Amino acid sequence: MEEYNLRVEKLKELIDDADYILIGAGAGLSTAAGVEYAGKRFTDNFPEFIEKYGFQDMYTSMFYPFKSPEERWAYFAKHVYVNNIGMGGTDLYKKLFSIVKDKDYFVITTNTDDQFLKSGFDKERFFRTQGTYSKIQCSKACHNKLYDDEELILEMMEKTDEDLKIPSELVPKCPVCGEEMDLNLRKDSFFVEDDEWHEQNHNYIDFRQKALNGKLLLLEFGIGFNTPIIIRFPFDDLVKSYDNVNLVRFNRSHTELTVKHNGNYYLVPEDELDKYVSPDIKERYVPFKESIDETLKKIKYFVKI
Ligand SMILES: [Zn+2]
Repeated sequence: MEEYNLRVEKLKELIDDADYILIGAGAGLSTAAGVEYAGKRFTDNFPEFIEKYGFQDMYTSMFYPFKSPEERWAYFAKHVYVNNIGMGGTDLYKKLFSIVKDKDYFVITTNTDDQFLKSGFDKERFFRTQGTYSKIQCSKACHNKLYDDEELILEMMEKTDEDLKIPSELVPKCPVCGEEMDLNLRKDSFFVEDDEWHEQNHNYIDFRQKALNGKLLLLEFGIGFNTPIIIRFPFDDLVKSYDNVNLVRFNRSHTELTVKHNGNYYLVPEDELDKYVSPDIKERYVPFKESIDETLKKIKYFVKI
């Protein structure tokens, strides 16, 4: 990798020069923003649940085989509150917004915490592909509608008893088929994509199409390999296919570029890219393993503030 300061300078220039900025964000961005699912944030917020169930972190807790819906929703309510509806926008997301707010930008994210919307990003320039903690849906997806859950979540938390159960009458039931409701998260084949989801998807496709006519900067943050086909691999394809596209990838452990070679796909580290791609593509690919927060602080827009 080029020296850090050189890459920071390059990033500044790319932001200045870009006609369009497409942000792709995964869990790593929220972790960097302090929305961590393990450690102190977990142990401080969930002591009763840790004691009762032996939970290790907020990821695995979501998949625990609770014995009853009353127990499951007691946990979900706390989880949703801690990671979405009880949180405001974080400094890191706000910093990112102040960098792009005067540009023609768009956001695609797999994150379900709504940090972008809470931090000032325009909801017309936003595509949340995997759902949100702030909505519930029919668990059998019998109809294509989502429901705000904030009031319900607050009531569930308030009425959670000592055994970590909510009252049975608060377990949400589908108004159409009577099945239990579920959080709107893409975890099985019953994920509901409502009208707003489809509109966001169209806006994303339109933006990408339009942006390919100018200088497009792809800013990717914290995307690993859980669902790389949604953002990461398409970004890799764009930078390899169009000479007006630059890709800046922030990732603590995986800054490789995906390259097709002899019919197979490889993850190629930046210092081996010479063997697989043209110098031009290598020039337009800028990886960072360094801290997102520290790097954004160095961008000149903040020096001015
Ligand atoms: Zn239903």
